[in-house]
Amino acid sequence: MEIIKTVHHMQQTSDAIRQGGESLALVPTMGFFHEGHLTLMRAAKDHCDRLVVSLFVNPTQFGPNEDFEAYPRDTQGDLKKAEDAGADMVFMPSAGEMYPESAQTSVVVKDLPNHLCGLSRSGHFDGVTTVVAKLFHIVKPHVAVFGQKDYQQLSVISRMVMDLDMDIQIMGVPTVREADGLAMSSRNSYLSPEERKSALSLKKSLDLAQRLFHEGEKKAHIVKDFVRSYILEHPHTEIDYISLCDSVTLEDVNTLTDGTLMALAVRVGKTRLIDNGRLKK
Ligand code: AMP
Repeated sequence: MEIIKTVHHMQQTSDAIRQGGESLALVPTMGFFHEGHLTLMRAAKDHCDRLVVSLFVNPTQFGPNEDFEAYPRDTQGDLKKAEDAGADMVFMPSAGEMYPESAQTSVVVKDLPNHLCGLSRSGHFDGVTTVVAKLFHIVKPHVAVFGQKDYQQLSVISRMVMDLDMDIQIMGVPTVREADGLAMSSRNSYLSPEERKSALSLKKSLDLAQRLFHEGEKKAHIVKDFVRSYILEHPHTEIDYISLCDSVTLEDVNTLTDGTLMALAVRVGKTRLIDNGRLKK
C-alpha cells in the first residue's frame, strides 16, 4: 500500500491508473477507523480495480467550539486497517497542502445544508463540500463511497455532484452498528461507560418511531414527542434536534409516509452523536 502526501503525486498516480484502463474508487475519511469505515472500503474495492482512502481531519468542517484538536487519531493503526481492507493507496495530505494561504474558493450547496446538522453546525457543510470537491479533483475517482450514517452529508455531496456535473458515481453504504445497535462512530471513543448506555437511546428511539408508525401513527409531532421523552429519560442526554423529514429535500413533514426520514442529533455528555433511519410501512 502506497502512502501519498502531496496533491501533485496523487494526481500523477491517479492519471497513470486511469490511463492504464483501471477503475478507481475513493473513500474519504477523517481516520480512527472502525468497522463502518472498513465496510465502505470493502464495498469500494468490490466496485473498482484500485482503492484510494483519504485520511484527513479537515479543519474547515469543524466550528470554533468543536472537537478538531481533540478528534481521535491513530495513523499507524489506520494504515494497517486500510491495507487489510484492500486499500491500494492512502492519501494523507497536511492541512497546508490542502489549504494554501492564498486559497479563496469554496463550494457551497444552497438549500440542503439549511436543515438538520447544518442548523447547529454553521459552515460545516461548506467545509465538507469544499474538501470533497478538492479530493475529487485530486484523486479523480470513478466511484466515491460514503456512509448513510451521515445522511445529510451524503445528500449534500450527491447534490453537488449532480449540480456541478462531476463524472463520479456516488455510492451510499448502510450504517454499520455495534451488536447492541449503537451506530459506529469515531466519536464513540469519547463516551464513558455510563454515557455509552445512554447513547443507545438514539437507535432505540429510531426503533420506537418505527414501531409507532407501523402501528398506524401518522402525526410527526406525536412521534417526535414520544422520542424526545424517551431520549431524555436517559442520563446526560441533551437533544440538538429530532427531525421527521422528506428524505430528498430534508424539509420537516407533518404527516409521516413510507420512507420518511427520521434524523437526530443528541449530545451525550460532551459528545454529539447522530443517527437516522427511514420509516417503513
Ligand atoms: P468520518 O471519518 O467520520 O468522516 O467518516 C468517513 C466515512 O465513513 C463517511 O462517509 C461516513 O458516513 C462513514 N461512516 C462513519 N461511520 C459509519 C458507520 N457506522 N456506518 C457506515 N458508514 C460510516
